[in-house]
Amino acid sequence: GVSKLPNVGTTIFTVMSVLANEHKAINLGQGFPDFPMSEELTGLVCAAMRDGYNQYAHMNGYMPLREGLAAKIEELYGTIVNPDTQITVVPGGTYGLFTAMATILHPGDEVIVFEPAYDCYIPTIEIFGAKAVRINLQFPHYSVNWEEVSQRITERTRAIIINTPHNPTGSILRAADLQQLQTLVQDTGIYVISDEVYEHITFDGERHESVLRYPELMERAFVSFSFGKNYHCTGWKLGYSVAPPALMKEFRKVHQFNCFSCDTPKQVAIAQYLNNKDAYLQLGSFLQAKRDYLQQLLTQTRFEPLPSKGSFFQLYSYKNISDETEAQFAQRLVKEHGVAVIPVSAFYQDDVNNGVVRFCFVKKEETLEAAVQKLIHL
Ligand code: PMP
Ligand code: GLN
Repeated sequence: GVSKLPNVGTTIFTVMSVLANEHKAINLGQGFPDFPMSEELTGLVCAAMRDGYNQYAHMNGYMPLREGLAAKIEELYGTIVNPDTQITVVPGGTYGLFTAMATILHPGDEVIVFEPAYDCYIPTIEIFGAKAVRINLQFPHYSVNWEEVSQRITERTRAIIINTPHNPTGSILRAADLQQLQTLVQDTGIYVISDEVYEHITFDGERHESVLRYPELMERAFVSFSFGKNYHCTGWKLGYSVAPPALMKEFRKVHQFNCFSCDTPKQVAIAQYLNNKDAYLQLGSFLQAKRDYLQQLLTQTRFEPLPSKGSFFQLYSYKNISDETEAQFAQRLVKEHGVAVIPVSAFYQDDVNNGVVRFCFVKKEETLEAAVQKLIHL
C-alpha cells in the first residue's frame, strides 16, 4: 500500500488538545506554557526584523548564535564544541531527532528505544525502514535496566535513543546510567541519539546529565535541544543539534535539502538573549514550584503522584479513583470533568496500563487551581 506508517494514527497531543477545545476543558495534556514568554525576547525579535534580519540565515545557523551556544555548552557541561563544525540550528527538537535518524539509519537497522517513548521516536525509526527494539523502563521509577539493554544489543543495533529529563514520566538519567551506556557502546558502531530538550528543567537539586559531559559518548552522539522549552515559546519551533564534526557533516547533507535554514530574526534575538543566563538557569526552580503547587492542590483528590525529577510533567496514579484503562479514564476526564491529561499508554506500542496519566504543570497558578477544582469530586 501507499502508507509507510500503516499503524500510525494522529498524535495523542493533537487528539487530546482537540478534545480539550471541543469540550472547553482545561488543557493539562499537551506540554506548553499558558503564560506569556519574555517580553525582552519578543522585543529583540521585533528589533531584529526592523533592523533588516529578514533573509535566509546561514544554512547551519546564524554564527553569533552558534558561538553563544558553544560558550554556554562549555560553561554548563565543561565540553568544547566547535560552533563551525558541531552545532546546527534546526526548526525544533523533533526535526533534530528526525534528521539524526535520516542521517544514520538504513533499512533493517535496529534502534533501541525505551518505553514509554516520546511519540515521534518509533514512527521516525520506521520511516527509514529500521526496526524499533523496545525496552520498558521499570515502573514505577521508570529506570533503565542496563543488563536488559546489553542483552538486546545485536550486530544490527545502529543506535540507542535516550531522553533525559524524560517525557512523559519526568524521570532522569543519572551519572551511573550514562557510565553504563558508555560501557555498552564503547568499541561498537552504535550511535547515541540524545533528546535533551528539557536540559534546564531538573528538580530537587538534580544535575542534568548531558551526553555532552561524557567525551566517549559525545564522539558517537547526536544531541537535540529546543529553544521552545527553554524560553516558553513552543510555537517558535526552533532548536539546535550538536554532534562531532564527521557526524554533523553528514547531518548537514540531509538538513540542507530539507529545511536548509531557520527563522533569521529569532536566531538573531536568541543570540543576544543568551546573555541573560538567569532565563535558563532559573527555569528548574521556577517549574519545580509549579510541580509542587499542582501536587499540593491534588492532595485534595485521590490522585497519587509518582516522582517527577524534571521536564514539564508529572505522572499521577488514578488507581484509587477508577479501574478504567488510561485511555478510557483520560477520555472521561476531558468529556465529563473538563480536564485534559495524557494517558501514558499512548507512549507504548503494546497494551500497557499502569493506571497513570500525565499532567503538564507548566501553567498559570489559576489554571492549575481551576483544573483541580474540577477534579475534586472524583
Ligand atoms: N522531545 C521531547 C521529549 C519533547 O517533549 C519535545 C517537545 N514536545 C520535543 C522533543 C520536541 O521539541 P520541539 O517542539 O522543539 O520540536
Ligand atoms: N512535547 C509536547 C508534549 O509532550 C507536545 C509536542 C507536540 O504536540 N508534538 O506534550
